Amino acid sequence: MAKDTSPACKQCRREGLKLYLKGERCLTDRCAIDRRSYGPGEHGRRRIKQTEYLTQLREKQKARRYYGLLEKQFRNYYEHANRQSGITGENLLKLLETRLDNVVYRLGFAVSRRQSRQLVMHGHFMVNGRRVDIASFRVKPDDVVSVMTNSSARDLIKEATDLTASVSPWLQADHDNLSGKILKYPEREEIDVPVQEQLIVELYSK
Ligand code: SF4
Repeated sequence: MAKDTSPACKQCRREGLKLYLKGERCLTDRCAIDRRSYGPGEHGRRRIKQTEYLTQLREKQKARRYYGLLEKQFRNYYEHANRQSGITGENLLKLLETRLDNVVYRLGFAVSRRQSRQLVMHGHFMVNGRRVDIASFRVKPDDVVSVMTNSSARDLIKEATDLTASVSPWLQADHDNLSGKILKYPEREEIDVPVQEQLIVELYSK
């Protein structure tokens, strides 16, 4: 599967905020945003004239990077959201949130979405008792996500749960048994992402 391999910290610096792409390191004083709070590259310190288009573009890039998707994958999610009834921006976030890699991260089984994606793709997780190694797999209410009993990553996953302060309210985690349940689809206010999704809709609607 194609994936974004650009350096994580550069992505945060480009968006001008912490996207928490590196897990534990993001909480330490080694975070690049804390040390160099300007854009990457030769022209990183230049003042850029803000236009409506640029604001919308940055919002889309921020969301895309937050979930670790390539442009085409992100656009497909938008098209899907646009075909659904309801508010397109909220539909988009709900689709992104219910990806298996995101759910594994939200349940506290990985320190970052990058790590959760790798763990999923290497076959360390099951959904309803069946091994699933597709990061974009869409979970639904009442699904149970659990770590494979013979997984070689159990210690790593356990360590991640020890660092988890809280779990999203639409999920229920059982860190002792390394499993979790999807209680319902998330409401917008339960999705903790620093994104104004309406700007993304405006960008793609042009
Ligand atoms: Fe972003 Fe984490 Fe790097 Fe800080 S350490 S710049 S939050 S990826």
